[in-house]
Amino acid sequence: MVRQATFASRKEWNPLRITHDNREFLRVSTDALSSFDPATGELVALVETSTLEDVNIAISRAIEGLNRSGWRNDGALRARVLFRWAERMRTNMDTLAELLTREQGKTLAQARGEVLSSISMIEFNSGQARAIFGRAIALKEGVHGVVLREPVGVVAAITPWNYPLNLTIRAVAPALATGNAVIVKPASATPAIVVHALELLALDAEFPPGILSVVIGSGATVGEHLVVHEGVDMIAFTGDSTTGINVMKKAADGLKKVSLELGGKSPNIDFADANLEKALDGAENAIFSAAGQICTAGSRLLVEASIYEEFVDRLAARASELRVGDGLDPQTQMGPLISASHKQTVLNYIEIGKSDGVVISGGEDLGHAPFDKGHFVAPTIVSGLSMNSRLLTEEVFGPVLAVQSFDSEEEALSLANGTEFGLACGLWTSNLDRAWRMGRGIEAGTIWINTYHHFYGETEVGGFKHSGVGRQQGIEGLLEFTETKHLNFDSNNNLW
Ligand code: NAD
Repeated sequence: MVRQATFASRKEWNPLRITHDNREFLRVSTDALSSFDPATGELVALVETSTLEDVNIAISRAIEGLNRSGWRNDGALRARVLFRWAERMRTNMDTLAELLTREQGKTLAQARGEVLSSISMIEFNSGQARAIFGRAIALKEGVHGVVLREPVGVVAAITPWNYPLNLTIRAVAPALATGNAVIVKPASATPAIVVHALELLALDAEFPPGILSVVIGSGATVGEHLVVHEGVDMIAFTGDSTTGINVMKKAADGLKKVSLELGGKSPNIDFADANLEKALDGAENAIFSAAGQICTAGSRLLVEASIYEEFVDRLAARASELRVGDGLDPQTQMGPLISASHKQTVLNYIEIGKSDGVVISGGEDLGHAPFDKGHFVAPTIVSGLSMNSRLLTEEVFGPVLAVQSFDSEEEALSLANGTEFGLACGLWTSNLDRAWRMGRGIEAGTIWINTYHHFYGETEVGGFKHSGVGRQQGIEGLLEFTETKHLNFDSNNNLW
């Protein structure tokens, strides 16, 4: 069993102090909140927070920015600004990746992957900014309809801590590409990485003032103020399903547009005819990547009975050999959880696993030297769970995998669809007909066939059931940030 962390090779870190000074886009003026390295407990950044008045100012500036600048009508300008942002992100890749690992905990390789995919998302939306086309149609003699896509107005992007760059940028980039103004509220655990990435956008000389602001603070105060404020036209929210439901209820009073990207309990289904080596890689990546703190984590593994024993044994052996530790150590394969309280939540689920089933790999709290200052738990696999176990239906958001076996496609489908969530699914099979049948039967926004956790700016993501409302990424994700307007021209002399 190799579970080693080497913290000794870490470079010294001078905590960042992030204030409004020289950062017009950051609307903060009061007490600082601290973000900590989840691997070592070290202070990463002290970030000033926003009062409700700061939020009001951000909203007024956004409205003014839209009214005074040509932003909403100048796609070429928006494309240029976004393109240069992507370039600056690329130039600052190493700094951004290190800060992301220090503040969020994922491995440096995963952090670089997150920066790269954020850049790709910006580039896709930069291209789209010049192609927000409408339609024109001759309706009858002398009558024409012109259908335009217009920006919604002021968008609040409220985002979580697990993929702080990606999930912020996948809302900000299309919102800006379509001509909106955006106010970002990042999660309190990861404010510094978000401020740093958005600063690279805000400093663009052609970017009109007010079109981007960042506010910092708790969801209950700053987040909720954005949701209910009459100056905000749309909420693009990514986070927990319960929070999302509350956001939707509050936004309903103002009849605001919402886009909700929420939780998951995604099934990863292995048929006996799959390429088993690739499927094992996929199962490991699906649950242990980013320590399972991914909304699309393949947290339920369904394996066909004839290969169940061999597949699960091999996966358990792999899990026990995963190198857990400091994300800055290039040898590390799985980093820590985000906080002590989140670690306790995950440990509570592991206890449920121990009482409702059998822990066949991991299960330990790694809270001893050299892990004692960070929030580490072992990659964990639980089998033999009773059908009513909460571990089969609730999102853990940690490296805890529940495995089940099935005998037929029908049973696999019924188990796969048996939760309130519907975010993603993995299917491993060499039978094309089966892939189609299962793919059509699964209730989820993304279905990976013989792969897992690959995301593309071009293709939509989002949830069925309690996993969300609307889509992000792709063309549909872009158009979520628009209103459709029909201009109806009648050149006839009489009304009737
Ligand atoms: P969270 O819901 O606690 O917080 C998300 C954001 O909402 C934070 O910025 C938070 O401050 C803010 N917030 C909290 N309460 C609020 C309120 N009442 N009004 C307005 N804003 C409020 O989620 P989290 O713990 O940061 O993230 C983990 C969750 O996010 C998991 O459930 C995960 O599945 C989900 N998630 C979903 C996706 C997706 O694309 N579907 C992606 C990543 C994470």
